[in-house]
Amino acid sequence: MKQIVAIDGPSGAGKSTVARELARRLGYIHLDTGAMYRAVALAAGRARIALNDINALDELCREIDIGLVNTPQGLKVTLQGEDVTLLIRTPEMSSASSAVSSVSEVRRHMVRLQRKIGSGGGVVAEGRDVGTVVFPDAAAKFYLDASVKERAKRRWLELKERGIEEPQENVLNDISARDHNDSTRDDSPLHRADDALVIDTTSKTPEEVVEEIFLSVKELEAGCG
Ligand code: C5P
Repeated sequence: MKQIVAIDGPSGAGKSTVARELARRLGYIHLDTGAMYRAVALAAGRARIALNDINALDELCREIDIGLVNTPQGLKVTLQGEDVTLLIRTPEMSSASSAVSSVSEVRRHMVRLQRKIGSGGGVVAEGRDVGTVVFPDAAAKFYLDASVKERAKRRWLELKERGIEEPQENVLNDISARDHNDSTRDDSPLHRADDALVIDTTSKTPEEVVEEIFLSVKELEAGCG
């Protein structure tokens, strides 16, 4: 039976790389919940909505049209039909998404959408609260972690590859600030689900992590998990 695979963990732990490849190998949908919060942050910025204006954010989320399209090149994210895949990946959108994601009204709308996407199973969902809040009944739950130094290094390299030059120190500070926001907010803070398997990716390749999760999902699919 097709599963819901929940992958949580802090920024830079390798969730996106692993989720993308895992979804490809399993023939599942890749559901990047962080991309949805990033799209909300972009839409809020464009509408000049303050990131703490709860009513305006609530209103915005009622009308927002976020599309997640799985393509052979990776996940394409659209906002009201416009391709915003690259626009949501800037350092500014990282911190803005962290801010809007602490607003409960925003989370409520996004969780509803995420559950709709996952309703048929066959989904690899990654984020911060996927195994704890969005899909608490998922049988396949993983929590990826890595040292903050390693996570900052990965994020710095990723930005550099996209032509965004940021001092390493800024990236480290941003990751630490987001770690703090994500794990101390009142609504759905980042924490490991009791039944999630922890994988420390600090000294593992993405391929090794994918293989480990792939094998365990295949066991569950076969009904012997
Ligand atoms: O995963 P990514 O770094 O793209 O997520 C952007 C931001 O969205 C995170 O810093 C986090 O604050 C928020 N987020 C969240 N819950 C999720 C996924 C992401 O609060 N399930």
